[in-house]
Amino acid sequence: MTPSDLSQPILVLKFGGTSIASPSLIQSAARRIANCRAEQMHVVCVVSAMGDTTDRLTSLAREVTENPPRREMDVLLSAGEVQSMALLSMALTELGVPAISFTGQQGGIVTDDRHAEARILRIDPDRVVEALAQDQVVVLAGFQGTDEQQEITTLGRGGSDTSAVAMAAALGAQRCEILTDVTGVFTADPNIVPDAVQISALSYDEMLEMANLGAKVLHGRSVELARRFLVPLVVASATEDRPGTRIVGKDEPMEEVVVRAVTDDRDVSKVSILSVPDEPGIAARLFSALGDQGVNVRLIVQAQSHEGHNDITFVVPSNTFIEKADLKKVVEEVGGASWIVDDEVALLNIVGEGIAREPGVAGKIFSVLAEEKINLDLISSSNLVISCVVKEADLVRGVRALHAALIQTDQG
Ligand code: ADP
Ligand code: ASP
Ligand code: MG
Repeated sequence: MTPSDLSQPILVLKFGGTSIASPSLIQSAARRIANCRAEQMHVVCVVSAMGDTTDRLTSLAREVTENPPRREMDVLLSAGEVQSMALLSMALTELGVPAISFTGQQGGIVTDDRHAEARILRIDPDRVVEALAQDQVVVLAGFQGTDEQQEITTLGRGGSDTSAVAMAAALGAQRCEILTDVTGVFTADPNIVPDAVQISALSYDEMLEMANLGAKVLHGRSVELARRFLVPLVVASATEDRPGTRIVGKDEPMEEVVVRAVTDDRDVSKVSILSVPDEPGIAARLFSALGDQGVNVRLIVQAQSHEGHNDITFVVPSNTFIEKADLKKVVEEVGGASWIVDDEVALLNIVGEGIAREPGVAGKIFSVLAEEKINLDLISSSNLVISCVVKEADLVRGVRALHAALIQTDQG
């Protein structure tokens, strides 16, 4: 049996941790799912761990050992989502809605073997389809899968969004709804900018930049997958019945704006490698060496050559595991003199399809930050984004000032 043999369209709903943080929230999620079933939709429901369970499990491991083996860490963290899936399935059964819960493995999610940051390789959704064909709601544990050796893996923090979109793509679902503690995607993190407004629709490309640059309302890879497989994606409230934000292809109707949103990311570090010989191939060697260590580089700046030497600076997510020994090896490999790591920095990003189109956006951004007396450490720009590295202490002030100056607050 394949998804196309099913008699009703498929809806994938993903509930985030805060939205199922207590038994009563789990019961209200179950009521919402029951309503969707009543509308003649097959429902696959992807769940995160309840509330701060993933953080608590991580702390537990650290109380036992400073260096938990990555394999065992994945086994431990996967338990959070397993707890949620069983409880939600029970709540559905209690309402008279036939349901069955599946772990990532039972749901056919096959990943590579990179513990804590695994990528989904493929999905074999046979059991999911069989259960839907028997009119059961499938409750699937997000954030987890197994590799080819049946070892449990996890997809990286926030990865349940990616489980949901990947399953929606594998099933050819009518849409995937990410249900969370905000009513949609906003023009800035509403917890930082009180004036932020909800966006009614934005493009996959804009959302991808936002997600990769700090808007954790969606996991970056979930947006990548939605764009690749054209999964209609909606972000909405888990508890309020209000229209959310649609993430759509560029051709679909959406408000044209120059700047769509301002995002912030304080979880970054700046690394400078000093006095690297100015020779062809050095940057290739440096960034290949970092790539081999699994370091994901966000922004790179090379200063002007001085007496045959350069400083090369780049920004990495701060959870990147750059050990002293590793950095020393990288610096030696490219013949650099020394290195500096600065954790007190943050990224301030301005995202919008109009950045490349409209002249003067960059000038306006820099004037706003100058008025706020915020010093720009590094700047990078692309068609869709201008990113600035600033001191972490200046971040909130910078985000609020840029939002006030650049965002048309009538786009929601
Ligand atoms: P969940 O547990 O449902 O996965 P997350 O905490 O991962 O929820 O994501 C929701 C949070 O994302 C919101 O509470 C909000 O603080 C944050 N966020 C950051 N940027 C944005 C944005 N531009 N729009 C909406 N929410 C945002
Ligand atoms: N429970 C995992 C986390 O807290 C996955 C998720 O919530 O998406 O990161
Ligand atoms: Mg999340």
